[in-house]
Amino acid sequence: MAAMAAQGLAKVDCNGRSYALPKAPTVVICLDGSEPGYIERSIADGRAPTFARFMAEGASLLADCVIPSFTNPNNLSIITGRPPAVHGIAGNFFYDRATGSEVMMNDPKFLRAPTILKAFHDAGAKVAMVTAKDKLRLLLSHGLDYASGRAIAFSAERADGATLKLNGIDDVMGFVGRPLPEVYSAALSEFVFAAGVKLLAEHRPDLMYLSTTDYIQHKAGPGSRLANDFYAMIDGYLAELDAQGAIIVATADHGMNDKHRRDGEPDVIYLKSLFDSWIGKDRARVILPITDPYVVHHGALGSFATVHVPAREDVAELVARLKAVPGVELALPGAEACQRFELPADRIGDIVVLSSRHKALGTAPELHDLTGLDAPLRSHGGITEQRVPLISNRRLSISTGRSLRNFDAFDVALNCVN
Ligand code: ZN
Ligand code: ZN
Repeated sequence: MAAMAAQGLAKVDCNGRSYALPKAPTVVICLDGSEPGYIERSIADGRAPTFARFMAEGASLLADCVIPSFTNPNNLSIITGRPPAVHGIAGNFFYDRATGSEVMMNDPKFLRAPTILKAFHDAGAKVAMVTAKDKLRLLLSHGLDYASGRAIAFSAERADGATLKLNGIDDVMGFVGRPLPEVYSAALSEFVFAAGVKLLAEHRPDLMYLSTTDYIQHKAGPGSRLANDFYAMIDGYLAELDAQGAIIVATADHGMNDKHRRDGEPDVIYLKSLFDSWIGKDRARVILPITDPYVVHHGALGSFATVHVPAREDVAELVARLKAVPGVELALPGAEACQRFELPADRIGDIVVLSSRHKALGTAPELHDLTGLDAPLRSHGGITEQRVPLISNRRLSISTGRSLRNFDAFDVALNCVN
């Protein structure tokens, strides 16, 4: 940061927003799936004294995430400071009308905006990024130049494969001193924090982004032993980051709700089945953007779907039919959804559907492998998972009446800390 100040820089601009230089090493954290209540219950049960101190002496606010309330769109919003209409990542995959194919969106070529980390790096700052799952690594680290010696970025999942050339660091396993975690585990997120604490101590990045995984939140609700253990683990690492003098802002990519019936079976509206009966078999293409190679803990069932229908179909009529389906919270034409939720129009279908708090959306029963679900379904994607915490260890100056988004996290950490 001294280098930046020496260059006479006072601010760094990125995607039309302006960020002050960090007053101290600044750590922005995305606590994946942190529905409001997890942290509060851990505190009430005496498991999270650091969170309690931050919330009492620093700041405890709520923010809205972007819709769809999924991991990738929100992580990219947080790290670019803008909604998906700007950065282009509206889910894990989309239907590309131009090529007529369903495409995974985890390649940086789909990213339409630079990250705040890149902007700071290019201005002379030292930056670091650690994400739990490797699927996000290339997107979150896009544009970083490791040859500068001022950038480090890797995933916990593939920590053993990190190299100086591709990640700005090698021997991450020796550096962190923990075994390589399983991809479906709490240890994957713990590795992120353990790495963050080490990086802060030994590399002293000016700006660091840490992003966990919601494996635990998909399994267990606030106040459960599993959840309290998880937040107690995080709490310990927050204390270490805080003790090193870091400015910390923690938010979440989305919340999490039960999406099951009383008997524990997933409570699902199967959209492809509905459209097959309404307009004919296989004529509508239902896209569930939560779908990705890691579906074990949610069976690709979330609360957001987008549907492509043949051009001659009456979209308004289909939207009206959807609205009459119990458990549909919102159905609207794609263009309206793009305007309301600031989504990229070329990556959204003709219709957008969101389900209510305890309902999930699927394609057809035979197309979902639910054998990996070892707990009653909990998931996200809808408006009912839009509320997330925004917590800091520092007091903040935020104008009254400002409604915060989770993608204001870097703005808050850099511009609003007293
Ligand atoms: Zn997530
Ligand atoms: Zn999830």
